Amino acid sequence: MLSDLNAADHAALDHVATRQDAMLERVLGWARINTGSWNADGLRRLAPDIADALRETGAAVETVDAPPIEKINAKGETDAFHTGPVLRAVQRPDAPIQIVLTGHYDTVFPPKTFTDITEIGNGKLNGPGLADMKGGITVMIEALKTFESVGEAHGQKDRLGYTVILTPDEETGNFASDSFLREAAAQAHVGLTFEPAMEDGALAGARKGSGIWDIVFRGRSAHAGREPEKGRSAVWAACEMALKVEALMGVRDGVVFNVGSVDGGAAVNIVPDNAVLRVGSRAPDPDAAEWAEAQIMAALEQTLQRDGITAHVHGGFYRPPKPRNAAQDRLIGEVRETAKGIGLDLVFKDTGGVCEGNNVFAAGTPNIDTLGVRGGRIHSAEEFMVVDSLSERAGLTTLILNRLADGRMDGPAIKRLMS
Ligand SMILES: [Zn+2]
Repeated sequence: MLSDLNAADHAALDHVATRQDAMLERVLGWARINTGSWNADGLRRLAPDIADALRETGAAVETVDAPPIEKINAKGETDAFHTGPVLRAVQRPDAPIQIVLTGHYDTVFPPKTFTDITEIGNGKLNGPGLADMKGGITVMIEALKTFESVGEAHGQKDRLGYTVILTPDEETGNFASDSFLREAAAQAHVGLTFEPAMEDGALAGARKGSGIWDIVFRGRSAHAGREPEKGRSAVWAACEMALKVEALMGVRDGVVFNVGSVDGGAAVNIVPDNAVLRVGSRAPDPDAAEWAEAQIMAALEQTLQRDGITAHVHGGFYRPPKPRNAAQDRLIGEVRETAKGIGLDLVFKDTGGVCEGNNVFAAGTPNIDTLGVRGGRIHSAEEFMVVDSLSERAGLTTLILNRLADGRMDGPAIKRLMS
């Protein structure tokens, strides 16, 4: 243990150590309720349970309806999906130091696809959303509760206020909840997000940005046998653009492109007048993201040289890149220092994956986004959580809260490094 653990830190760690079993029970209960991103009933069923748990922190908790998510269907029409609510908790909004804590309660698993919770040895449990990220939400709430009770006893909680945002749609891009995340993040000095850490305990460093484009092509239908010359094939146009996009792979370091799907057409005796092309891209920094978007638009423009074809474009870089910068480097250094207090030598690894940390960063707020449980194989039926990491990571977050509250970690100074 490092000598700079103070009395409040010791009290917090002692308290968290007694909470392991209660935390495990909570996350198991939540994992038994399916909250696949498109399972609105399941999301609405679990949300009040999480809201109740949030209330244990003493914060003011609201359950807020999210706007509908607009989806472009295979015919190129826009469908609206009504997801579950966004949960928002606010504590001491006038305190001099403000942080935002975020997480999502949806999972990638549709109902009945992955339901069992199984012990798989080595202190691991396999189950849906245990790591990504019902375990993380459990860690967050326990850390806040501990901070409140210990902070009360040690007279430091009044300096730190926070907003918690828990979303129903992270796994599909936070399209309904992005504005909630950004609004809360903009007012915060530092962000904490509770995606799972890696099994070995490593956290995410830089993250690429992620863009999605749904491109709806329209042509003109005609009888493919009798008068094909009158037709203008939208499927042909979509395929032409798909080839141009795939050819961009490897052109610029670190930027990837992927054609996710091509939908369109009807019977083989009809020249197809509709097609939908879905394209994804990931880019490591804002310049690269701008370049990637320009390349996609140029590929589209060339495709539209074809006679009789028009297109509508939906989308863009919905999660901008989260590169390492001075603010991120400083915050990562401070969290590494904090972790030494519980004997952890934290490693940060750059990743092509994206999460709410990107959204918080886009609002101008430095953040650490993998403060949840240790785990692995997420987004698969082998997803697992390392059980002991519930109290380990709750301890880590509590120490971060203590240091932000008493100024050992200078949140406002870290935020100033963003500009
Ligand atoms: Zn997640």
